[in-house]
Amino acid sequence: MNFIEQIIEEDLQNGKNGSKIQTRFPPEPNGYLHIGHAKAICLNFGLAKQYNGKCNLRFDDTNPVKEDTEYVDSIREDIQWLGFQWNAEFYASDYFEQLFLWAVQLIKHGLAYVDDSSQEEISQQRGIPTKPGVESQYRNRSIEENLDLFNRMRAGEFADGSRVLRAKIDMASPNMHFRDPIMYRILHAEHHRTGNAWCIYPMYDYAHGQSDSIEGITHSICTLEFEVHRPLYDWFCEALKIHHPQQIEFARLNLSYTIMSKRKLLQLVKENYVQGWDDPRMPTICGMRRRGYTAQALRNFAETIGVAKRDNIIDVSLLEFCVREDLNKTAIRTMAVLDPVKLIIDNYQDGATEELTAINNPEDPSKGTRPVTFSKELWIEKADFMEIPEKKFFRLSVGTEVRLKYAYIIKCTHVVKDAEGHVIEIHVQYFPETKSGMAESNRKVKATIHWLPISEAKTAKIRLFDRLFAVSDPDNVEEGQTFLSHLNPDSLKVIEAYVEPSLSLKNGITHYQFERTGYFCIDKDATDSHLIFNKTVSLKQ
Ligand code: ATP
Ligand code: MG
Repeated sequence: MNFIEQIIEEDLQNGKNGSKIQTRFPPEPNGYLHIGHAKAICLNFGLAKQYNGKCNLRFDDTNPVKEDTEYVDSIREDIQWLGFQWNAEFYASDYFEQLFLWAVQLIKHGLAYVDDSSQEEISQQRGIPTKPGVESQYRNRSIEENLDLFNRMRAGEFADGSRVLRAKIDMASPNMHFRDPIMYRILHAEHHRTGNAWCIYPMYDYAHGQSDSIEGITHSICTLEFEVHRPLYDWFCEALKIHHPQQIEFARLNLSYTIMSKRKLLQLVKENYVQGWDDPRMPTICGMRRRGYTAQALRNFAETIGVAKRDNIIDVSLLEFCVREDLNKTAIRTMAVLDPVKLIIDNYQDGATEELTAINNPEDPSKGTRPVTFSKELWIEKADFMEIPEKKFFRLSVGTEVRLKYAYIIKCTHVVKDAEGHVIEIHVQYFPETKSGMAESNRKVKATIHWLPISEAKTAKIRLFDRLFAVSDPDNVEEGQTFLSHLNPDSLKVIEAYVEPSLSLKNGITHYQFERTGYFCIDKDATDSHLIFNKTVSLKQ
């Protein structure tokens, strides 16, 4: 049991909140969700499920300049794809009127005031944690004057940045968030939902807890950086005498070789370092989906890493392990030759073909089998042949034997080279009695290689990905540099390859294991006449 489950079970035992559990996932619609958000989604929706509670989706849309309905739509899609359904969908902007009324209430109680100071003056007066700050000259305005000014702020009489509404708390508090935090700022900007109805917008600290409260949230789970905001969260709920959810912090997910800030991900997209939010190299949920990661794999990953109280960095290879493990169970096997060389079976009859049986998924017999056509001329991988074998090279070389998967044992007799000395034809003999599945077929060879019939193989474009960043901690940069300096220039390679002729958009299969190579999935850009695959992950680390 993790520490959040412990808190929840205690609360349930004590009958707190009528023994009900209500959580929420509160994204700001200012970008696409990434794997860190997936962790928070699995946690919030998972706890609700586990304890028979409910989880809301709430868009924290209090900053109109950066927010957009494009992001709202993508967030909804990603959560559903991950396998979760919210109890209700809310927007912080739904609460603007209520939040305004509560601000008026705080003013009336002498707990908030309009400050005409500039942003610089405010931050200067706030000072440093070890020394008390300086009170603003506007701090002791009369309630009447504050009400009048705040109403006029809302009415649009003042310019952006000319005034703010601040909570009147404690300019000497060692917690900087208590030094009269800003509740409202003036922003003449169109909001993606409320349009131009408002020109003052609440700050995160003023909006978040109250939104939780309105929705009857019982456990408000957020990441560790909000721990220092918690006293303020509590203060607003107490000052307004409203339902008081319990904020609980956990360590945010950090992954090696990965950037996890929406601002930086947006920069990668805007400045065309990647081909969009769903570029398969991106750590976004939609990027991972396009790359072939499954929702089950992401959920398993979230479960495996658990919930921590201290910040740490998870090795990205653990995520890849979870993807591999899930795809091993579910992906349909197929043969693909990524870097082909021609193999000719000299003792196989010209023009003859035979249908062999290939297994779709050895982990899951219910997936059945498929026919593959065998013939005299085949494609095999260049890497599976070495004219003069190095030590420990057990695949094909002149004079040695291997098995062609699902087919026969072959022995290489000689090769044909081009003018530059590159092998262009590998000539072999096959042994009819060694056909897979036949009694005599248990003759031992050291390797089995995959192949495709040249006459039937289909061409396909394959995108091979390497890590987007060349270093494990791309946020760690030298002075004067940015995370962009760590971009891996070779993170995308596109090749033409051969795949089995049965692969198509029509059969509804998207995720494949290319035998002996890795996991691949059909990209959304593919057409039936030109298949495109993304490499999801290699077979082994
Ligand atoms: P970013 O820093 O990437 O911009 P954010 O925290 O500003 O992310 P929000 O939209 O505010 O993004 O996040 C919604 C929820 O997801 C919050 O509750 C936040 O704590 C959680 N979350 C964001 N990033 C992570 C992460 N890396 N690990 C776990 N939870 C996260
Ligand atoms: Mg945030």
